[in-house]
This record gives sequence, C-alpha cells and structure tokens, in this order.
Amino acid sequence: MENINTIQNIPDTPKKRIVIIGGGFAGLELAKKLCAKPFQLVMIDKNNYYQFQPLLYQIATAGLEAGSVSFPLRKYFQKYKNAHFRLGEVLKVNPEKNEIVTDIGSLRYDYLVIATGTKSNFFGLENIYKNALGMKSVTDAIYIRNYLLNNLEKALNETDTNKISNYLNIAIAGGGPTGVELAGALAEMKKYVFNKDYPELDLSLMKIKIFEGSDVLLNGMSAYASENAKRTLEKMGVEVLLNAKVTDYDGEKITLDNGQIFNSKTLIWATGVSAAKPDGFHHQSAGIGMRIKVDRYNRIAGYDNIFALGDVAFMETLDYPNGHPQVAPVALQQGKLLAKNFQNIIKNKPLREFTYKNKGTMATIGRNSAVADLPGIKLSGFIAWFLWSIVHLLSIVGAKNKVFVLIDWIYRYFTYDQSLRLLIKHKTTHSE
Ligand SMILES: Cc1cc2nc3c(=O)[nH]c(=O)nc-3n(C[C@H](O)[C@H](O)[C@H](O)COP(=O)(O)OP(=O)(O)OC[C@H]3O[C@@H](n4cnc5c(N)ncnc54)[C@H](O)[C@@H]3O)c2cc1C
Repeated sequence: MENINTIQNIPDTPKKRIVIIGGGFAGLELAKKLCAKPFQLVMIDKNNYYQFQPLLYQIATAGLEAGSVSFPLRKYFQKYKNAHFRLGEVLKVNPEKNEIVTDIGSLRYDYLVIATGTKSNFFGLENIYKNALGMKSVTDAIYIRNYLLNNLEKALNETDTNKISNYLNIAIAGGGPTGVELAGALAEMKKYVFNKDYPELDLSLMKIKIFEGSDVLLNGMSAYASENAKRTLEKMGVEVLLNAKVTDYDGEKITLDNGQIFNSKTLIWATGVSAAKPDGFHHQSAGIGMRIKVDRYNRIAGYDNIFALGDVAFMETLDYPNGHPQVAPVALQQGKLLAKNFQNIIKNKPLREFTYKNKGTMATIGRNSAVADLPGIKLSGFIAWFLWSIVHLLSIVGAKNKVFVLIDWIYRYFTYDQSLRLLIKHKTTHSE
C-alpha cells in the first residue's frame, strides 16, 4: 500500500535535492564526495549501516565481528547540515512526479540515484528459497554462524551415524569467490577449531562440498586461478563437484540436475544474484539480469534526472557488452565519477563518460593461499594471499574497523583460532 505522507524533517531549500537510494559501495562513495558540495543530499537505506560484503564469509565462520565490517551510515552525515539519512525501504519510483515512495513516506527529488545493489536469486526454486541459507548480508552471515554451531551441538546428541553426518555436512551451491572463500574457511575451522571444541564428534563424518553449475571454479577468472583454487580446496578436504547444478532442496536432501542426491541439513546459497531494483521504471530501461539500463553517464535510459550505479546498473560498452562485473571497484568508480558529473551539471559543463579501470581480480582460499589475476601477471599462494589481505584491509571503511580486523587476523594467524564462536539465540523470554 502506498504511504502518501511526506518523509518528515527534510526541509525544502533552494539547493537541488539529490536522493540516493542505497548506502553500499556506490551510494556511499557518491555521498562522501558530494556532502560538502552545494546540493541537498538525502540517503535512504533499509539498513542503518554500510556492509563490506567481501568479508561476510569471515563473519559466517566466526573469524570477524559483524561490527568490524559494517559502518553506521549516519556517522558520515554528522558534519553536514545539507545531508540527511533516513532508514527506510524504497518501494517504488514515480518518475512522472519526481517522487519516491518508501515505507516511511514519499519524497520529492530533483535528481535520483538508484544504488540498491543485488539480492539473492533463487531462480524461482521455491524449496531452495525456503530451506537454503542466503549469504548476502551481515544478518545472513550471523545466521549461518549460529546455524552451523547449533548443528554441531545437535550432532553431539545423536548416536545414529547418518543423522550425525547430516548435521555435520555443509554444502555450498556456487563455486564463485564467495563459495570458494567460505569452503576454504570452513575446512580450516574443521581442522583447527572443531576438532578441539568437539573432541567427542567423529569429524570424518563432516563433508564440505561445493556444487558448481559450470565446469570451473571461479568462473570469470583465469584457468590458472580456477585450477589452483580447485587443487588447493581438494587438498584441504573440500569436495568440489563441477557441472553440478542444485535443483531442489527440502532441508535434508540436495538434488542435482543429473538426479544425484546428497544429504545435508545445511545448504548455503552462494550462487546467483539479481538486481534489487525498485518498481516504477518503463521497460525501455530493463537490462540483462534485471539490471537497469544506463548510458555512459550512468543515466537511466529514457530519464534525464535519474541515475543508477554499481551492481544494479547495466552499462553496455565495447569491452563489456554484457555489462560490467558486479564487483566493488565498478561501484566505487561509478560513484566517484557521478559525483564529478553532478558538479558538471550545475556548472553547465559536459559530462564525462564512465570507463572501468580494471585493476584485477582476487579470491582467497585459505591460510597463505589465494589467487590473483592482475594486469599482466597471475599470482597464487602466499604472495597472492598477502596482497589480498592488504587490499581488503585498506578497503574496509572506518579506521577503527581496519585496526580491529587487523588484530583479529594477526591473532588468528598465530593461534589458528576463530574466536567468535558465540551461538546467539532468539530472545523468547527475559534473561535470567
Ligand atoms: C558475499 C559477497 C562477497 C563479495 N565479495 C566481493 C569481493 O571479494 N570483491 C568485490 O569486488 N566484490 C565482491 N562482492 C560484490 C560487491 O559486494 C558488490 O559488487 C558491491 O557491494 C556493489 O555495490 P553497490 O553499491 O552496487 O551495492 P551494495 O553494496 O549491495 O549496496 C546496496 C545498498 O542498497 C540498500 N538497498 C537495497 N534495496 C533497497 C531499497 N529498496 N530501499 C532502500 N535501500 C535499499 C542495501 O541495504 C545496501 O545498503 C561480494 C558480494 C557478496 C554478496
């Protein structure tokens, strides 16, 4: 149902109002660059924090605190009177009225920027949607951590070997960077942590499997990286099944497209995303993968004052005929350029076209082990892992977060311990 009240306490001023939907990589980069400029900025996000998704797998595997990879969005706006943050979910855009409709009210804009990223795509597979665990947000990652720890506790209460292995098995659908990183981290937990925490359990019953629909891991990276990742994971005890698409899951049985069935009470869905696009745009603006079609200035096809950035945007170029990869550097670079272009707009200067500067792709597999496809060079092993660590540490938002992550990493490196193994329960009664 549409809420027709206007969002309160955002004054009308002579400044042009830019409304940014989404405070992720793209939206936040844009806002940071525009805060001190002569616009009124309004950011709306359904969470009051930014999340650094590349390290979610470390929250899911008890290596990092959720707070270390999140950052309160309001903190950015503290110093600026012309900038406002609202916690709310945008439901719809009314381009003909220059207005957005959210669950906290409607709001007029002069310029609108959609930076809403993606959501998990279950490809219409209802059972998988109901029973698999998503891996898209801090909340998902904390849930996975709790779920895994709870299953280990439950396994201890069983005597039947099949039941025990069902609780212990962990299946991951998707052999992209998220699936590979998660599988590697879980294999290390099994080796270094679970064996000490659960000495009564026969951990040989725990199988960690990746089901990947294509014929390689890390599809999109070089053959060198894909083969290295597969070899390393297998050495760590992970079973990698290629050409294996998960088609059904009832919470216990995983069914593949070739009819094979595997038993596991855990299926983590690390495959497939679709654009998280609000309703209201005409179909002229529909790009591949539900993404919003934009021109080289990130302006949405058919609209003069609405832009889309990052994962949600589909920009076709000669180098990227199927759109840019849905990765953080694209979102950051588009956010940065649009901030410059907004200043060009008010100065009546020509806009600058977006060209992606691809500095390479990396994925970590485990301790001292990663792969990196960099311009002109392919790396693996310790050097790639060290580089991956530096790049991710520098990219984390907030000085305190950087320090905390570094401390956790150093601690873990020397102690082999993932120390954040709290099993947080839902609150049903008052604490006693
Ligand atoms: C598990 C995981 C691991 C990843 N690892 C890597 C990696 O190693 N390297 C890399 O480069 N990329 C990685 N990525 C991809 C990277 O995170 C994305 O490319 C990047 O986040 C895109 O930025 P964005 O600003 O477009 O969207 P996001 O960062 O997703 O931000 C979107 C924001 O919009 C908000 N939002 C969405 N819908 C609404 C709505 N209707 N109303 C209000 N707010 C809304 C969300 O709450 C969110 O804050 C990973 C992604 C995941 C999920």
